[in-house]
Amino acid sequence: MNRSLSLLVAFVVSIAATAQTLQSPSQFLGYDLGTQFSRHHQVIDYFKHVETQKPLQVKLEKYGETNERRPLMLAFVSSEDNLKNLENIRENNLKNAGILEGTAASTNIAIVWLSYNVHGNEASSTEASMSTIYKLLTEKQDYLKNTVVILDPCINPDGRDRYVNWYNETASAPYDIDQQASEHQEPWPGGRPNHYLFDLNRDWAWATQVESASRLKAYNKWMPHIHVDFHEQGINEPYYFAPAAEPFHEVISDWQRDFQTQIGKNHSKYFDAEGWLYFTRERFDLLYPSYGDTYPTYMGAIGMTYEQGGHGRAGLGILNDEGDVLTLVDRLTHHTVTGLSTVEISSKNAEKLNAEFAKFFDNKNLKYKSYVLQGDTDKINSLTALLDKHEINYGFAKGGKVSGYNYITAKQGQMNTTAKDLVVSTNQPKGKMVKVLFEPNTKLSDSLTYDITAWSVPYAYGLNAVASRSLVQPANNPTREIIPTSLKNSGATGYVVEWGNMQDAQFLAELLKNGIRVRFTEKPFTTQGKTYDRGSLIIVRGDNKKMDDFDDRFAAIAFSHRRTFDAISSGFSTSGPDFGSPDIKLVNPPKIAMLSGDYTSSLSYGELWHFFEQQLQYPVTSINTDDLSSVNLSKFNVLIMPNGYYGGLLNDNLIDKLKTWMRSGGKLIAIDGALNSFADKEGFGLKRNKPENTDSEEDKEKTKRIKYADRERDYTKNLITGAIFNTDVDNTHPMAFGYGDNYFTLKLGSSSYSLLDNGYNVAYLGKNPKNVSGYAGKDALKKLDNSLIFGEQRMGSGSIIYMVDNVMFRSFWENGKLFFVNSIFFVNNNLVEL
Ligand SMILES: [Zn+2]
Repeated sequence: MNRSLSLLVAFVVSIAATAQTLQSPSQFLGYDLGTQFSRHHQVIDYFKHVETQKPLQVKLEKYGETNERRPLMLAFVSSEDNLKNLENIRENNLKNAGILEGTAASTNIAIVWLSYNVHGNEASSTEASMSTIYKLLTEKQDYLKNTVVILDPCINPDGRDRYVNWYNETASAPYDIDQQASEHQEPWPGGRPNHYLFDLNRDWAWATQVESASRLKAYNKWMPHIHVDFHEQGINEPYYFAPAAEPFHEVISDWQRDFQTQIGKNHSKYFDAEGWLYFTRERFDLLYPSYGDTYPTYMGAIGMTYEQGGHGRAGLGILNDEGDVLTLVDRLTHHTVTGLSTVEISSKNAEKLNAEFAKFFDNKNLKYKSYVLQGDTDKINSLTALLDKHEINYGFAKGGKVSGYNYITAKQGQMNTTAKDLVVSTNQPKGKMVKVLFEPNTKLSDSLTYDITAWSVPYAYGLNAVASRSLVQPANNPTREIIPTSLKNSGATGYVVEWGNMQDAQFLAELLKNGIRVRFTEKPFTTQGKTYDRGSLIIVRGDNKKMDDFDDRFAAIAFSHRRTFDAISSGFSTSGPDFGSPDIKLVNPPKIAMLSGDYTSSLSYGELWHFFEQQLQYPVTSINTDDLSSVNLSKFNVLIMPNGYYGGLLNDNLIDKLKTWMRSGGKLIAIDGALNSFADKEGFGLKRNKPENTDSEEDKEKTKRIKYADRERDYTKNLITGAIFNTDVDNTHPMAFGYGDNYFTLKLGSSSYSLLDNGYNVAYLGKNPKNVSGYAGKDALKKLDNSLIFGEQRMGSGSIIYMVDNVMFRSFWENGKLFFVNSIFFVNNNLVEL
């Protein structure tokens, strides 16, 4: 063989050898894992490399795409035998849970699902996903004999890359460990949330985001026995793992509690051996159902959160307050150890896991057997869309009476049902999740909790409901109401559409975007034998005569939004205002601006951004708070201030600018924390509720002597941790069109304002308000006496609208959204030229 030929052969052989070798993450990436942050596409490339090298043991599956078009991927890792048999294992598991019909053939394979980096700036865990899959396939093959490991290397790729790209362009080389260095100060909004700035670890139950909705499809197909959600916490906290803290939801079984402890003890072996610190049973509880630990728990798994110290603060290395340098290498190493230890203990207990998993799905002993919900068909449809995401079964009522707990009266009562009413029962595999989502009141074993304590779905969707202790059989062949198609009539004076839900709002937005002029009525009127309530839309031919294809265009939009309408032959009403009345007002298509950036809550801004773009589908201009002083507000007639902390922004000059703009017709919508900027300020009617301390002298003395150790718990009397209240509504005010006399609001905190002296109190709490669901401390309750929920104050030609409660919170309180829509389109909808 000549020299060049032998070189060539050697080259080819070496290529072939590399091609058949599984590379470690460091070899593949070209840097030692943890010495750089890997961008999302590099991580996906590594997983593809692993699949290519180990095709008999690894299968990658794309389950979706983010808003910014990054792929969402799962890697299934197991032994060759199991991987060949993957579909059988999956079906067998669903049979074991009773979700699929048939008897499970064998139940000795554990299914462990590891989810990484749900919070984008808690970025060590995605690095750990690479070392974890590599070690499973190289050192820990034994575990795979009876375990299927499902790795989601990054739940939130958009957030992760936002963090990583920022870090890469900011950090010095070598990295700076000084906490004050810019590489440890992430700018607004930070990498934690997804594209629309939602916290995906609050979104599992509501699945408002594309990442969650896509993941739930895959999750429900598999229903793993173990689910780990990898996180990071402050740089001075070492590591947190299971068992979780109280309160635990009452559906959590003894086995689920017990196995959390076994897992924690397994981890502690490794941590103790290395001298790594950790804590358990504190802070992270299991109650609110929308987390990556609780949701899987209520679906039968052992659902856990693991928290490594680090977070968006830590970068590649940081000096913490205890004088230790915490590096990315440390952080990913710890997450790798707990991930592998989780697989190890699950593998050791595979049969027991299967047996206990099956038991979880027995729902015979749940208190309420059926929930029956009644209301507007569109609202029922919104709810069934949510149930479909969780693959929860439901039916429709047969008619007849149902007795049980009535959500509106908060007492035992009866409801007459019709075939339109939804029946959701707990005698199904996912019965415990039904209970968690629907029950009127969640039992709290401890009022110190990490999140909201009330979310009951009938209130959130604005439906009348009864929780029944006996099973309500649904109709055998339900006929879901078919919305009839209305017919255009080119002889009609106009069309009328009733108003009452978000689908109506989307329809109105679409009409306005198409240049169709729309009116709404501020008073009820009767025509052609039918009475139309306040807020009904009137689309008059005379207003649209410039549009050649008016009837076709209107009818097509109505059809695509599944709206029914009535063709009215004359503008002369039998009673109430005629079409030309000043009480039937033109909807002046609003030009809307919204504040974003520093001082705004990124979550609140994101909720509104998502609402305008993905739900209402109406344009909004985002204005950076830095530019507020220079921006020309006269180009807009609505300005939205999301929840925020505007103290450092709104100086007297800016307040004056806003006042001047409002006086000339502008409408400011201030949400939650934004109200702080106006409360007790000159020219604004908003006043903080300051109840007197009515405690006796003796009680006041007692309070002074509360022990240090008891102070935190004592403080809960001042807190409202997400509780539901029944408010009175003035539904003659345009902000409340489409609502009844009452509205159930979700209160997120204890801030409280008096009713407006010179303004409209649209929704409010009366004397001695009581929480119908969720936790509210006794002192916080006192403060809520006669307090404002939503109100409007006129200012010159314009208005300021106060929304004390944030109806967009996590985008799940469906029934509140119309207050916001009404504020935009109907309230003080004057025709002042701006
Ligand atoms: Zn986190």
